[in-house]
Amino acid sequence: MAGVLRASRGPALPVRPFCQARAPAVVRIAAPAGGGGGTYDGRVTQAETTPRTGKRVLLAKPRGYCAGVDRAVQTVEEALKLYGAPIYVRKQIVHNKHVVRTLEAKGAVFVEENEEVPEGATVIFSAHGVAPEVYEQARERSLKAIDATCPLVTKVHQEAKRFAAEDYDILLIGHEGHEEVIGTAGEAPAHIQLVDGPDGVDKITVRDPNKVVWLSQTTLSVDETMETVARLKSRLPLLQSPPSDDICYATSNRQHVVKEIAPECDVVIVVGSRNSSNSVRLVEVALDAGARTGHLVDFAHEIDDAWLVGAATVGLTSGASVPDELVQEVLAHLAARGFTDVDEVVTANERLTFSLPQELKRDMKAAAARG
Ligand code: SF4
Repeated sequence: MAGVLRASRGPALPVRPFCQARAPAVVRIAAPAGGGGGTYDGRVTQAETTPRTGKRVLLAKPRGYCAGVDRAVQTVEEALKLYGAPIYVRKQIVHNKHVVRTLEAKGAVFVEENEEVPEGATVIFSAHGVAPEVYEQARERSLKAIDATCPLVTKVHQEAKRFAAEDYDILLIGHEGHEEVIGTAGEAPAHIQLVDGPDGVDKITVRDPNKVVWLSQTTLSVDETMETVARLKSRLPLLQSPPSDDICYATSNRQHVVKEIAPECDVVIVVGSRNSSNSVRLVEVALDAGARTGHLVDFAHEIDDAWLVGAATVGLTSGASVPDELVQEVLAHLAARGFTDVDEVVTANERLTFSLPQELKRDMKAAAARG
C-alpha cells in the first residue's frame, strides 16, 4: 500500500476524499471518540506521531451511496415535499432497511404491486427498474408514475431492447428473482434467457450461435461474471459482449477496494441489507480475496463481539444503498472495543451524479413558478 498519513483529530466532519488514481492511498483518520465523535477533519498535519493501539480498522473507499441510490432516495424525498404524503413506492426504493424505514417515517408507503396503490395516486418505481407491463398497469389505474430507475439500469434495458429488435438471443447473467433481472427480462421475454452464475451455462439453448449476446445485472461479482462469460464463450465462441460494461462503476469500485484490504483483514464487516445484491457480493469478494471472515450487518448492534476476539485488523465497507451514518456508527462501535486506529484506503474518487426524473423536475419547476 501507499504511505500512511496521519490526520489530526478534530470535530465531527465527513471524511474528505483523498485524491487517488490507481494504487490505493491510505489516510489515517481519527476514530469516533466516546461512541460517536469525530472523524477525519480533512487536515493532514502530522505523520505518525501518536502510537497505534495494535487494533485497527481499514475503512474502504469508495463505499456506500452510489449516484443511482442517491437519486432514487432524493426522488422520494422531493416527491413527499412537492405532493405531500402519502407517496406510494413500488418495491423498496433501494435495498436498505434503514433507508426504507426513514422514508416510511416521512410518509412513503411501500407496496409490492401497482394494484395496492389507490387509483390516481402517485407511485414511484424503484431504482432497480421495472418491466414495460408495470408502466402499462400504472396507466390503466391512472397512476401518476415517477420512474426512479437508475440510469445505468435503464442502459441495460435499452441494450436488451436493441438486441431483441435485431433478433439476437440474449443471455442475461443475473440472479433469478432479483427485481432488476425481472425488469430487464420483461423488455424482451421472448429473446432473453437468464444465466444464474457459471453453473447456469449448461442449461442454455440458442437458435443461432452466430447471433448471441450476453448482458448482465448491474450488481454482480465482477470475477464471477467473467467466469460465467468464459464458460459461455467456451460453448459459444462467437458470443458478443455488451457495448459497454453492464456491471456498474459503483459495484466494481466497491469490490475493487475490498479486494485491496481483504488480505490484511481478520474480519471484514460489510454494512448492508441481506436483499442488497451488491452488499452480499462484497462479503463474498472479501472472503475470496483473503479475509479470514466476513459478515453482513444492517446496524452496528448486530456485530457479535465474538467476531472480534483475537482480531487485529477489521475491514469495513458498505453497499451502494447504505448511508454513511451507519458506517460511522460501526466505527464508533469498534472504537469502543479498542479499534481506534482507522486507516481509510482509497482506490477511486466518485463524482458521478444523476439528475432527478424528468417528470418530477417538471412538476418542481411548475411549483416554483407558481411561487
Ligand atoms: S448500484 Fe449501480 S446500477 Fe445500482 S443504483 Fe447504484 S449506480 Fe445504479
